[in-house]
Amino acid sequence: MKLVCCICGMEINDINKNVNSAAFSKCNQGEAINFCPFCGAAKEHLLESNNYIINAKNGDLEKVSLKILDHAVKLELFNADFYNKAAALAKDINIRNMFKHLSRIERIHANIHMRLGSFTELPKLTEIRYDKYKSDLELLEQAKLREKHAVEYYRKYMNSIDDNNIKQVLEVLMSVEEEHIVLLSN
Ligand SMILES: [Zn+2]
Repeated sequence: MKLVCCICGMEINDINKNVNSAAFSKCNQGEAINFCPFCGAAKEHLLESNNYIINAKNGDLEKVSLKILDHAVKLELFNADFYNKAAALAKDINIRNMFKHLSRIERIHANIHMRLGSFTELPKLTEIRYDKYKSDLELLEQAKLREKHAVEYYRKYMNSIDDNNIKQVLEVLMSVEEEHIVLLSN
């Protein structure tokens, strides 16, 4: 079995289908591949042919769309960085793994926005420390807040984008972040 995710462009096969398993409450079991393990997209976005990856419909995006995508890159990179550092701070092994896998997924989300906006240079982020969060519980709470912020961001700005393809991607990523909130709440 081999599928290609039209949202992130990654190829999914039997070897890598559970690669970020700690970031999902379900898993790709047996023959079935029900979601993309790299970006979290649901199975309707996974295709058997590998020549379709969703992109902006028009080459020249409007200023407002570029601004929304630019901010989305930063939002996802900050969240990836948070999870990466939170993984190092967390005491429970399961929570550490979950944070590690979530970090990789948010990083892929940033890549998706880079591609959609045709951005070539990663933004430089301010260095943030998270060691003020003293317990796993505090880290989980912080994670949930960040995911909620991401969902709100996508919900608020999705409709300000003219390009229907990009709008669709933001909608997919919004539901992935919604699943993250559920995962973090369990
Ligand atoms: Zn994907």
